[in-house]
Amino acid sequence: MNIILFGPPGVGKGTQGSRLAEELGISHLAMGDILRAAVRAETEAGLAAKGYMDAGKLVPDEVVVAMIEDKILADAAAGFLLDGFPRNVVQAQALDGMLAKHALKIDHTVFMDAPEENLLNRLCGRLICRACGFGFHRQYSPPLKTGCCDRCGGELYQRDDDREDVIAHRLHVYREQTAPLLDYYQHQDSFHQLDASGEMDAVYGALKRIVTGEG
Ligand code: AMP
Repeated sequence: MNIILFGPPGVGKGTQGSRLAEELGISHLAMGDILRAAVRAETEAGLAAKGYMDAGKLVPDEVVVAMIEDKILADAAAGFLLDGFPRNVVQAQALDGMLAKHALKIDHTVFMDAPEENLLNRLCGRLICRACGFGFHRQYSPPLKTGCCDRCGGELYQRDDDREDVIAHRLHVYREQTAPLLDYYQHQDSFHQLDASGEMDAVYGALKRIVTGEG
């Protein structure tokens, strides 16, 4: 099964996407994680991306499109869940070209949305494990031991772009560049809209019902 999750920063694409991909046994291709790994490894693409990411801007399309095509091809047999790609209409068109070229198709395109106040609260309190990438929230899902990942004991940190000034810019970029994807996808058969403002397990249940067609 191949899935696209899209929606504003902080809506829960990463949290819900990694849980769903694990349960379905498909690959979770999170563009932000792929870029952060490239930045850490100081690859050419990572070095090109870093300044844009620190400022909360989109990395140039040609950089992300080339990176995601390799990952999609590597994982096409098992199925994949795209999280954070595409993020604008040019990327959506590039994805369609890629899928046609390799005789692949998307089964479900899920637009997740929540009021801006929820997004701000979620992003400002977000903590991530440096070792395994698992996400926590200072208020809504705090770790058992401060600063320490419940799953692996790794160190928790706040992403540089989860600072309030950068968050405001990311939300602006979302409204200007990513929100138009709604027009691009909403008339396709694979499209679903999911209210992601509720509690984490309830949102997950609704997401699972969408992709399994149950309920
Ligand atoms: P995320 O982890 O999805 O919040 O992404 C973090 C940052 O990575 C974004 O603010 C962008 O700078 C960059 N990024 C992630 N996905 C894309 C994409 N599809 N196109 C361009 N830049 C991206």
